Amino acid sequence: MFIGAHMTTDPLSSVPSRTLKIGGNTFQIFSQSPRMWRTNFNEKEVTKFKGEMSKSGINSDKVMIHASYLINLASPREEVWEKSKTRLKAELEIAHKMGLKYVNVHPGSRLRSPEDKAIERSAQAISEVLYDAPEDVTLLLEIVSPKGGNIGYNFSQLKRIADMSGHEIGFTYDTCHGFDGGYDIRTKDGMEKFLEEIDETIGMNKLVMCHLNDSKFPINVHKDRHERIGRGYIGKAGFTNFFSYEIIRSIPMVLETPGGDAEHAEDISIVKEIWNSLGILDK
Ligand code: MN
Ligand code: MN
Ligand code: ZN
Repeated sequence: MFIGAHMTTDPLSSVPSRTLKIGGNTFQIFSQSPRMWRTNFNEKEVTKFKGEMSKSGINSDKVMIHASYLINLASPREEVWEKSKTRLKAELEIAHKMGLKYVNVHPGSRLRSPEDKAIERSAQAISEVLYDAPEDVTLLLEIVSPKGGNIGYNFSQLKRIADMSGHEIGFTYDTCHGFDGGYDIRTKDGMEKFLEEIDETIGMNKLVMCHLNDSKFPINVHKDRHERIGRGYIGKAGFTNFFSYEIIRSIPMVLETPGGDAEHAEDISIVKEIWNSLGILDK
């Protein structure tokens, strides 16, 4: 089983060994400052990073880059839309150079445009970006919270965007975002509905990564506030139910919970406790 956290890159080459230190075997990073448009590729540091990756034994096919927060693939504003495509292309190129398999991006925000239009716009952007993207990198669309004009807050929207783009893409489930939109992974009924909906839309084989976050707010309130594992409204019992489904366990889990390495180490040990209680922890 795979678990890790979103890691700070200070420096990038420290990420693989710090991942092992917190009890992880995978991770997520920003390849660049997520709040600046400019990209800056540090060849020397990336070479060092790749050396550290081999030493660590971490499987780079389970690792993802989270694309910049500035990207809005659904933006009705021409300038932002163009910049977003350029940046996403750059993220895919950088993942390729770093030898990492996945780039995760949010489908976008509609601002004042209608939802259908925003879905088309996002699909069009993805279609253009993937036209000549490196073949060894897979783009993942992340489910988002139904907040502030976000699109892609349920599986049927994600499926529509992927289909319209005309490319093979994958998906990331975020347990906080999904909970925020009404998916109740805490209960048997909720999980059955959840898995059925996935089967009828994107297909379970396309759900390749998971952001494992608890939620500071109750289900379906559209707030998107991540909480540490077991301290939120999903809770230990909720995650225990989630992990009791075998099909979930093959998906790499990446924490985006508050705090740094120390807090993530604690959260990972809580997840492992849950796995242990289910008798599924491979020693
Ligand atoms: Mn995200
Ligand atoms: Mn997320
Ligand atoms: Zn979030």
